[in-house]
Amino acid sequence: MSHTIQIVWFKRDLRIFDHAALSNACKRGPVLPLFIVDRQILRAPDYSSLHYNFVSEALNELRDSLRKMGLPILVLDEDVVSAFTHLLSVYGKIVVHCHEETGNAISFERDRHVRNWTREQGVELNEYPQNGVIRGLRNRDGWSRKWNERMDAQIIPIPEPAKAPELRIPGVSLPISSNLDLNQDFGNENKLLGGEKAARELLDSFLDSRSKDYEKLMSSPISAPHHCSRLSPYLAWGCISSKVVVQATRARVAELKAEKGGRSSEGPRLRSLTSFHSRMHWRCHFTQKLEMEPKIEFRCFNRSLDNLRSGTPNANLLEAWRSGQTGYPFVDACMRYLRARGWINFRMRAMLVSFAAYDLWIDWRFIKDFLAQTFIDYEPGIHISQLQMQSGTTGINTLRIYNPVKQGMDHDPKATFIRRWVPEIARLSTPEIHDWGTDTFLRPTADYPHPIVDHAEAVRLARQRFRDIRTSANYKSDSEKVRLLHGSRKPSTRRHRHPTHGKSKPSIAT
Ligand SMILES: Cc1cc2nc3c(=O)[nH]c(=O)nc-3n(C[C@H](O)[C@H](O)[C@H](O)COP(=O)(O)OP(=O)(O)OC[C@H]3O[C@@H](n4cnc5c(N)ncnc54)[C@H](O)[C@@H]3O)c2cc1C
Repeated sequence: MSHTIQIVWFKRDLRIFDHAALSNACKRGPVLPLFIVDRQILRAPDYSSLHYNFVSEALNELRDSLRKMGLPILVLDEDVVSAFTHLLSVYGKIVVHCHEETGNAISFERDRHVRNWTREQGVELNEYPQNGVIRGLRNRDGWSRKWNERMDAQIIPIPEPAKAPELRIPGVSLPISSNLDLNQDFGNENKLLGGEKAARELLDSFLDSRSKDYEKLMSSPISAPHHCSRLSPYLAWGCISSKVVVQATRARVAELKAEKGGRSSEGPRLRSLTSFHSRMHWRCHFTQKLEMEPKIEFRCFNRSLDNLRSGTPNANLLEAWRSGQTGYPFVDACMRYLRARGWINFRMRAMLVSFAAYDLWIDWRFIKDFLAQTFIDYEPGIHISQLQMQSGTTGINTLRIYNPVKQGMDHDPKATFIRRWVPEIARLSTPEIHDWGTDTFLRPTADYPHPIVDHAEAVRLARQRFRDIRTSANYKSDSEKVRLLHGSRKPSTRRHRHPTHGKSKPSIAT
C-alpha cells in the first residue's frame, strides 16, 4: 500500500526544535524533509554570499540533526513548483508542510504559486506561523495580545524519530557559494556560524552574562558586538524561534527576581532584559507591516513622499557612502566594519541610513539592496520598515537625523574604532580625527577625502524640504492611513507584558 508522504519544506526555518511543520508531519509520517535551492531568491539583488554561507552551515547541521531522527533531507536544485510536481509524480500522494514566510516579493510570488499549484492538484498544504506575525489581519487592533498569545504557547519538542519514505528522486549536494554567481565581497570577517547549536549557545551566554550591561553598551560599535545578543541572523534564518527566545528571557527574568530579593544590584540586568524583550516584540511588529502591505518593499509608507528624493542619485556620492569614503571618519569606519563583518549594531545602522538619506539626499530604494546584501541578518520586514523610518518616509515618525561627528564623539570618544577602520588617519590626535575636515583641523592628506558634504547645510536643506512637502494636499491624510493600518495600538485588554515586574508597558515605537 502506498503511503501519503509528508513533505516538510524548509525555508527560513532551519531547525528541528519548536518546529510546528516538522512536528505535525512526524505525527502523520512517513516524512520527507526537503530543501530547495531556489535560484530566483539567490539571484535577487537583496541576496549575497554572506547569506548563502550562513544558510549552508545551518543546513549542514540540520541535515545531521534530521539524520539522527532517521530522516535524510532531500536537496533539490530546480524551480520550486517543478520540484513539487516532480515529487507528486513519483510519490503519487503528498502533503506539504511549511512555515508562513513574510519575505520579499519573490518569495511572496513563489509561495502564491505553490498555493495555487496545491489547490489545482488537490494537494494538502499546511502553512504554520513561526513567530508573532499574524496572517490575514486588516489592522493592528488587538495585535499585541495576539503576539503575547503566540509567545506564551507551548514550545514544541523535537519529534520522536520518524519513518522516512524510500528515496525515489536523487537529491543534489548543496552547491558551493563560488559556483552560484552570487553577490560577493561582504562579511568576509564574519564570526557567526549558522545553526541551531550556535543560536542556543548565544542565547545562553547572553542571558547568563553578556546581557548584564546590554542597555548601556548596545549603542557603541565597540561594546555592542559582545553585549548585544547577536541572535539576529539565527532568528532571520529560523535557527531559533522567537518563542524560544522570549520564553527563555522571561524565565531568566523570573530567576533573577527570585535571586534578587532585596538586592538592587540586579536592577540594571533586569532593565536590560526588559529592553531586549521589547526588541523581540519590535521584530514581529515591523515584520507585520510587510505582511500586511507587501508593496512597502517598493514604495513609501506615506505615498506623498514617493517622489521626495526623486531621480537617480549622484553616483559619486552613492559610491563614496558604499565604500566608506565620505570623509566623515565615524560613518566610514562603521561602513567598513559592516562590510567586513556583515553586522553592525542598531544605532550605527540608523546613522548610516540617516547619512545617506539626509546628508546625501539618497532615496532609500537605492540603498535597500546593498544594505540587505551586507546584513547577515537580512529580514525583509524589519529592514524595509527601518530603512523607511530612518529616511523619514513613514509619515508617522519624527525625523531622526544623526550628527555623524557627535555620534563619533559619544560612541567612540577615544577614536579607537575609527583608527582601526580608517587607518589613513590613525596617526592623528583624537580631536583631529573627530573634527576631520572642519575648519579647525584642515589637514589635507592624499589617502583620505575631506567631507563630501557639509552636514549642517545638508540637514538644513533636508528639513526645509520636509517642511514643504508636509503642507502638500495629501500628506496628512496619507499619514493617517499609515497610522490606521500600521501604527501600534494601546492594547485594550492585556498590554505588552513587562517582563521585569509584570506590569503593562506603553506601546512600542510606531
Ligand atoms: C536600517 C536598518 C535596517 C535593519 N535591518 C535589519 C534586518 O534586516 N534584520 C534584523 O534582524 N534587524 C535589522 N535591523 C534592526 C537591528 O539593527 C538588528 O536587529 C540588531 O542590530 C541585531 O543585533 P542583535 O541580534 O545583537 O540585536 P539585539 O539588540 O540583541 O536584539 C534582539 C533581537 O531583537 C530584534 N531587534 C533588535 N532591534 C530591532 C529593531 N530596531 N527593530 C526590529 N527588531 C529588532 C532582532 O531580532 C534582534 O536579534 C535594522 C535596523 C536598521 C536601523
